[in-house]
Amino acid sequence: MANPPEPAPAEETLDFIREIVAEDVRSGRHPAPVTRFPPEPNGYLHVGHAKSICLNFGVAQEFGGRTHLRFDDTNPTKEEQEYIDSIKEDVRWLGFDWGKHLYHASDYFDQLYEWAELLVQKGLAYVDDLTADQIREYRGTLTEPGKESPFRHRTVEENLDLFRRMRKGEFPDGARVLRAKIDMASPNINLRDPVMYRILHASHPMTDDEWCIYPSYDYAHGQSDAIEGITHSLCTLEFEDHRPLYDWFIEHLPVPSRPRQYEFARLSLTYTVLSKRFLLRLVNEGRVRGWDDPRMPTISGLRRRGFPAEALRQFAERIGVAKRESVNEYAALEHEVRDVLNRTSPRRMAVLRPLRVVLTNYPEGQVEEIEVGNNPEDPSAGTRKVPFARELWIEGDDFLEDPPKKFFRLAPGREVRLRAAYFITCQGVIKDAAGQVVELRCTYDPATRGGSAPDGRSPKATLHWLSARHAQAAEVRLYDHLFARADPGADGGDLLADLSPKSEEVVTGAWVEPSLVGLPAGTRVQFERLGYFCVDRDSTAERPVFNRTVTLRDTWAKLQAKR
Ligand code: ATP
Ligand code: MG
Repeated sequence: MANPPEPAPAEETLDFIREIVAEDVRSGRHPAPVTRFPPEPNGYLHVGHAKSICLNFGVAQEFGGRTHLRFDDTNPTKEEQEYIDSIKEDVRWLGFDWGKHLYHASDYFDQLYEWAELLVQKGLAYVDDLTADQIREYRGTLTEPGKESPFRHRTVEENLDLFRRMRKGEFPDGARVLRAKIDMASPNINLRDPVMYRILHASHPMTDDEWCIYPSYDYAHGQSDAIEGITHSLCTLEFEDHRPLYDWFIEHLPVPSRPRQYEFARLSLTYTVLSKRFLLRLVNEGRVRGWDDPRMPTISGLRRRGFPAEALRQFAERIGVAKRESVNEYAALEHEVRDVLNRTSPRRMAVLRPLRVVLTNYPEGQVEEIEVGNNPEDPSAGTRKVPFARELWIEGDDFLEDPPKKFFRLAPGREVRLRAAYFITCQGVIKDAAGQVVELRCTYDPATRGGSAPDGRSPKATLHWLSARHAQAAEVRLYDHLFARADPGADGGDLLADLSPKSEEVVTGAWVEPSLVGLPAGTRVQFERLGYFCVDRDSTAERPVFNRTVTLRDTWAKLQAKR
């Protein structure tokens, strides 16, 4: 009997954003959604931005629309070309394409200025001479209404004259601002005459020295959306209280379209701080190797660590979008990383803390090519040849001279299997002057070639190994959480105090298979029994550097099984 057809995806499975978009498409309000991802180029993107990118591009793709990449470049003092370039690279790497729809808020500076004059002419904006501190003081609080500025009732002519002179550069930074004239008593502080323009004599990466006044985010954002014909302007919850202002500008200006803003909960992750400002501080204070340090929650850091883009997309899909703030487990992100890497990473052997093994009954000078499978999850990945010889490296902690009951790996008198090669038995140990075991004397059983015995006996442990003569030296960087606690900063103290001293451990004396030298940065492999690793860009032609992406043990799956 044939399987019944897959049921069509139920409406209930759509998140609230997709429900809104689906309804707008169905009703014909918008035949196809147009979304945008609007980063401010004042730092590198982090995994929170990845959520927003996957949402904006994902929604548009699913409903036959398109997504614009728009740099929200309204603050030239903090913005740099390096950030612009990194943002483009990261969005592309995540697998999304804005096509020809690359924009900048600065593309609209002329139009924004013109509309600002229009608001002045309508009596809906005025030039204020209060200082920034005074403006803050006059604004009031959540419980007290604001106070009107003494400059609030200037005539249209005076406002227009001052605003034009602001634009011409007649006044120093901070001397005056342009404010929207809305309501100083509004319960919503964002409507208490928000600032639309401030004076800033700074050159801009796009407009150079053309402007010395720059629009605020609140003024620039919605109008940019309207100019581009954005239908659904998706942002994080902290902008919910800005929405009335977003709508106020759209209402009072002759904009060419009517975008709507929708807010969703930002991504928060355990053991992680997602704030460009804090990440910049880590970089500036030299706490990390840069924006793309493999411990950084930046997209470039996760990439360098070896996280596949597919895993980030899967994670975004798995956590979904909601209207309520919550904290996601870092382990849930790692779970997706393992899921992808398990399917796609070739297995290789590496020994991080080597212990020498000499096979006393193996012919001196003999070398065998052992055929080892590349990926048990993927038979099409084939096999490779790994050289085997009399002297081997095994992992130091795979041997104990005096093993406790549950230790099944190598010990004096005990037999173990070397992966795909032979069974070996430890016959003796050699120690240095300090009493440290520095070498094992073992015998091998020639009848067990390939890893199985004709008599059917089977050792409890299988170890990874390398031929000492053929192994290549490597540096391996073991990464762990950047923060020592799941909720960094929860004590209210300095976040830096919560950084983990164990977030990076550099192993300099590691050995790897010969085939692991000379691979391009970003190549991902599984080191058998050790974890997933990725070639770092610090590698040289002779000496590779590997980053541990994630260990093999899936703490997340275990947690879920218990729940
Ligand atoms: P940060 O607070 O880290 O400096 P930001 O919000 O200032 O970030 P923007 O460049 O302004 O950074 O953000 C671009 C887009 O990414 C915005 O639409 C913003 O809402 C979204 N975004 C930022 N952080 C997160 C997050 N943690 N989760 C989901 N979306 C986010
Ligand atoms: Mg911002």
